[in-house]
Amino acid sequence: MNMGFDAVYYEPDVLNYQLGQMLYHKYANLPWRQIENHNRIAEMTSAHNRDFPKLKSHLIIGTRKTHRYVPNHKVSDWLVPYTSSGCRAMCLYCYLVCNYNKCAYLRLFVNREQMLDRLLKKDAVAQVPQTFEIGSNSDLLLENTITDNLRYTIERFGREARGRLTFPTKFDMVTPLLNLDHRGKTIFRMSMNPQEIISRVELGTSLLSARIHALNEMAAAGYPVGLLIAPVILLPNWKYLYGELIDRLADELSVKVIENGFIEIILMTYSFVQNAINTEAFPNAVQLLDRETMTGRGRGKYCYRNDIRGEAESFLREKLSRRLGTMPILYIS
Ligand code: SF4
Repeated sequence: MNMGFDAVYYEPDVLNYQLGQMLYHKYANLPWRQIENHNRIAEMTSAHNRDFPKLKSHLIIGTRKTHRYVPNHKVSDWLVPYTSSGCRAMCLYCYLVCNYNKCAYLRLFVNREQMLDRLLKKDAVAQVPQTFEIGSNSDLLLENTITDNLRYTIERFGREARGRLTFPTKFDMVTPLLNLDHRGKTIFRMSMNPQEIISRVELGTSLLSARIHALNEMAAAGYPVGLLIAPVILLPNWKYLYGELIDRLADELSVKVIENGFIEIILMTYSFVQNAINTEAFPNAVQLLDRETMTGRGRGKYCYRNDIRGEAESFLREKLSRRLGTMPILYIS
């Protein structure tokens, strides 16, 4: 993706880090504006919802000060805040908007050594090897095109840890990862959606064909892999769209992915905040809030009604067992 940043906002301390210096030279042609704290940039918090795409064109650089690990029970044992939060892309349902509101722009944290040290320590003291989800706050494959952080992370973790790392992505820029000495300790998960949904909803992410190719390449490079069908969005023609997606995956995924990979399925949740921003920032975009099929789920969130979820779940399970029956479905949520 063409990042096309228009300005960098930075905490002055970042220039004391090697990564901060690298970014300073990389983006020397952009205006650099000093900020006190990446969490409080007054001109951004006071911006209008309609300015959301403009805010996304800013790059924020700071250090991560809080490192709270959240227990998790899906693919990983822990959700770990890592080297970035927010994202340059603009998926209309992006869950980060629930956390950061219109300030869901990309923030890079330059203290990566400190973050990985902490993670390795947590791994070392655990009774059994742990799996760490490092990609729940951003898309690390996209971030990697700016920072090269995955090379550092995957190789050092491979050498020093007992457990595993994992991250999901909607991007295809895997070439820099293919020859890394990963030692099978990084689980790579590719998020898939029908191309029509990628084009209309996952704005700025990679094409479906490129994602399939990237997943095949990562499996060929020896990484453990999985695919996420996520988020499932029940547009009026959803059966056709997801039926076709599963047929395409069955035809185009490599034998290695099909024989060794797993599947996660997540139905879309949506929120009042996302709806408010999308309505003003993308007035012509597809409407994701469907009051016929969705219901409130506390604190301004919406999800599909139970009967609708049930129908989607049986459709997907049935289709997947026919076309990708060797791939276990870890969960549908
Ligand atoms: S790629 Fe992921 S992090 Fe980026 S906007 Fe889309 S959902 Fe959000």
